[in-house]
Amino acid sequence: MFQNSNTSTMQAQTLLIIDDEPSNLCIVESYLEKAGFNLLLALSGEESLLIAKKALPDLILLDVMMSGMNGFETCLQLKKAPETREIPVIFMTALDNMEDKLKGFDVGAVDYITKPLNEKEVLARISTHLQLRSLQKDLQDKNQRLQEEIQRCTTAELAQRESETQFQVIFNNAYVAISLMNVTANYLQVNEEFIRLLGYSAAELEQVRCQDITHPDDQALSEQNLSRIRHREITSCAFDKHFIRKDGSMFLGSNWLAGLYDEDTQCCYGFVCVITDLTEREQTYAKIQTLSRAVEQTHSAVVITDNTGCIEFVNPAFTEATGYSTEEAVGAYPNILKSGYQDQAFYTNMWVTLKSGELWQGELVNKRKDGTIYWEYVTISPIKDEQDRIINFIAVKKDITERKAAEIALQEAKEKAEIASQAKSAFLANMSHEIRTPMNAILGFTEILNGMITDPTQQDYLKTIQNSGETLLDLINDILDLSKVEAGKMQLDETPVNLIKVFQEIAQMFKPKTQAKGLDFQVDIAQALPEWLLLDETRIRQILINLLGNAIKFTQQGVIRLSLIIHDLDIKNHVCSLEFSVQDSGIGIPLEQQENMFKAFEQQAGQSQAKYGGTGLGLAICQQLAMLMKGEIQVSSQVGKGSIFTINLDKLKILHPPSKRLKAHQPEQDVNFAPATILIVDDQMVNRKLLDLQLKKYGFKNLHANNGEEALFIIEETQPDLILLDMIMPIMNGMETIQQLKQNPKTRALPVIAVTADAITDEAKAFSQLCDGAVTKPIAKSELLEMLKSFLTIETQTQT
Ligand code: ADP
Repeated sequence: MFQNSNTSTMQAQTLLIIDDEPSNLCIVESYLEKAGFNLLLALSGEESLLIAKKALPDLILLDVMMSGMNGFETCLQLKKAPETREIPVIFMTALDNMEDKLKGFDVGAVDYITKPLNEKEVLARISTHLQLRSLQKDLQDKNQRLQEEIQRCTTAELAQRESETQFQVIFNNAYVAISLMNVTANYLQVNEEFIRLLGYSAAELEQVRCQDITHPDDQALSEQNLSRIRHREITSCAFDKHFIRKDGSMFLGSNWLAGLYDEDTQCCYGFVCVITDLTEREQTYAKIQTLSRAVEQTHSAVVITDNTGCIEFVNPAFTEATGYSTEEAVGAYPNILKSGYQDQAFYTNMWVTLKSGELWQGELVNKRKDGTIYWEYVTISPIKDEQDRIINFIAVKKDITERKAAEIALQEAKEKAEIASQAKSAFLANMSHEIRTPMNAILGFTEILNGMITDPTQQDYLKTIQNSGETLLDLINDILDLSKVEAGKMQLDETPVNLIKVFQEIAQMFKPKTQAKGLDFQVDIAQALPEWLLLDETRIRQILINLLGNAIKFTQQGVIRLSLIIHDLDIKNHVCSLEFSVQDSGIGIPLEQQENMFKAFEQQAGQSQAKYGGTGLGLAICQQLAMLMKGEIQVSSQVGKGSIFTINLDKLKILHPPSKRLKAHQPEQDVNFAPATILIVDDQMVNRKLLDLQLKKYGFKNLHANNGEEALFIIEETQPDLILLDMIMPIMNGMETIQQLKQNPKTRALPVIAVTADAITDEAKAFSQLCDGAVTKPIAKSELLEMLKSFLTIETQTQT
C-alpha cells in the first residue's frame, strides 16, 4: 500500500483518474490499485467535476485530450471551485509540445505524465505530488496556528493594557481611599482620596506604615488582620477602625483589606486597602438615634404611614394609648381606631387637606382596642421626597380625654350656673315686680298724704314711711342691678355725654347734703376735658352717686372732693383715658378689709347698722359697672384719715359735638291740659286710685278698667284720649291688649302708656316697645307729667 510518508497515520490516499478512453483508464487503474490507492474513475470532464466536488480526492490524474470538456477546461473548472482548488492535478498527455504543457501549468496543473504511461514514473510523480501536497497542508496548518497565536497574544496584551488603564482611572477617581502596601504594610501607592482623607502627601506616605495612621486602641486588631492575610489564613477582611490624620485628628473608617499573592509561590507580597470615611454616617446615625429615642420615649403617640395611609410605624405611646401592639398596628390602617363619632365628610376633608400637601390639625374621638372611647388632639403632616412627592404621613397624637372631660364638666357646670343665674334673675324680676307694686301705693299715697297732713307729729310719721319706702326701693334697685350684671344682662347704652354737665348736676344734687353736714364739697374737672365723650351716662352717674353717697355718709367733718383727670389724650385718634375720683376725710377703711368691700353685702367689721345703715351692695355694683365699661375701680384708704375711690376708664372715644342738642334739664312747670279722658287699666284698685289722685290736679276725666277685656269694651264705647296700661293682669294682660289695639285701625292711633313694675325682663321691654311710652312703678310725678305732655293738648304752661 502506498503511504504518505508525512502522515503519521497510515491511510489510503484517494486518486481520481479521468480519461475518456476506457482502455487508458484500465491501464492506470491497474498500476495504482497495486500501489494501494483508493481509486475513483471518470470518463469525462463533466463527470469528473461532480466526483471531485463530492469525494475531494487527494490527487487527480487528468487526460488532456477528451471529447466534450477537454483536460484544460476541466482543470480550469476544478481550480475555480474553492473546494477543489487545492487538489493537485497531473495531466496525462500524448502531446509533447511545450506550449500545450505551459498551457497546462497555466490552468493550474502541477505536473505532466506523458503517454504511453510508464508505471514507475506515474507512481513516482504521484508520490512526489502527494508528499508536496501533504507538506503544503502541514505548512498551511502551522501558519494558521501561528496566526491565531499572534492574534491571541495581541488581544491579551491589549486587554491587559486596557484593564490597567481602567484600574488607574478607578484608583485615582474613587470616592473611597485606596492604597497598595507591600508585605510589611508600607504604602506603595495611594489615590487622591487617601491623600485628602489622611492629610499626608504621597511623598510623606512613603515613610508611613499602615499602623502609623491607626489609633493605638485599634492597632492590635489591625495587626492581627494583616498577619492572618499574610499567612493566607484569610485572603481579605473588613473591619471598622479609628484612623489618625496627619494633623492628629481622628475619624472612624470602614477598612477593607485584601492580600496580594504571587501566582507561582502563593506568597503574600502586599495588600490592597480601601478606607471609607464613616464620620457622616456616624453623625447621621447619631441623629437618627436621637430622633428615634425621642419618638420612642415621647408621651405623644406617633404613627407613620405610607402615602396610602397604611401604618408603617407606631411608637410605644401609641401602643399604650390604643391597646394595639406594634405587630397589630403595622400593616393596618388608622381606621382601626374609628369610633363612628366623626362622619365621612370629616375624614374626606382630612384626606383632601393631607393629599394637597398641607398639615391637618384637629380633635378626634377614637376607639381603643378594648372598645373604650378617648379624645385626642392630632397633628398630621405629609412627608415629601426631593421631587416633592408625598411618601409618608406622620401623625402626632396627644390624649386629651381628661382635658375634654374637664371641659365638658365645666360646660355643664356653666350651663347649670347659667340656668341657676337665669332662675335667680327671673326670681328677682318677679320679686321686684311683686314688691314694686305695693311700694308704688305706699310711696304714691305718702306723697299725696304729705300735701294733706298739717299735724307735725303725723308729718314726722309720714316722713319715716317715705324714707323707709325709698330705702326699700333703693335696695330693690341695687339687687336688681347686681343680678342683671351677674346674669350678663346689663347692657351699656353708650351715647354722647357732656361730663361737665353731669358733674354740675351731681354737685347740685349733693350740695344740700354736704351743707347739712358742714362738709366742704369740692369739684375739680380737668381743663382739657373734651366736651363730648361716648359713655353710658346713667351708669357713670350711678357709680359717682354711690361713691359720693358713701363719702358723705362716712365723713363727719372735713372735705369731700369729686375730681376728673384726663390721661393719654390722643386727639389724632380721638381717644382719651379718664380717672374719676371721690375723696373724703372720713373714717377710712382698714387695709385688710379694703378688698372685701367690693364684694356684695360686705361692710366694715363692727360697723353700726343703726348709724350708717346700707346693704353692702353699692361698691359691688360700682365694680361690676366699671368692669362692664372695661375699666377698674380701686380704693386707697387710711383709718381715721379718709378714703379715695378711683375709677379708670381707658380708650374712651372723643366725639364731635352732636348735632342734636341734648335736652336741657327743664325746671318743673305748671301745665294746664285741655280737657281729656284717660283710661286707667290695672287689676289693682289701689294703683288705679293712686293714679286718680296723681292726675287729679289736671282735671281729666278718668275711666277705670280691671283688665284688657274691659278696657277694649270701654275704648269702643267712649274713645278716650290716652290709656295707662298695666302689664300683668288676669283675663287679658297688657301685652294682648296692646296687640289688639295696634292691630285695629280704629284704635291704632290711640296713645298708650305702659305701666310696668320692672324694666329688666325681655317681656317687659317688648311690652314697653309696643306701647307709645312707658313709666316704671313707683311712678314719679315728673315722669308721668312728661309722658302726658307728649300726648295730650296743653292749653297753658308756666314755670314754677
Ligand atoms: P353700703 O354703703 O350700703 O354699706 P357699699 O357697698 O357702698 O354698701 O359699701 C360697703 C362698705 O364699704 C360700707 O358699708 C363701708 O363699710 C365701706 N365704705 C364704703 N365707702 C366708704 C367710705 N367712703 N369711707 C369708709 N368706709 C366706706
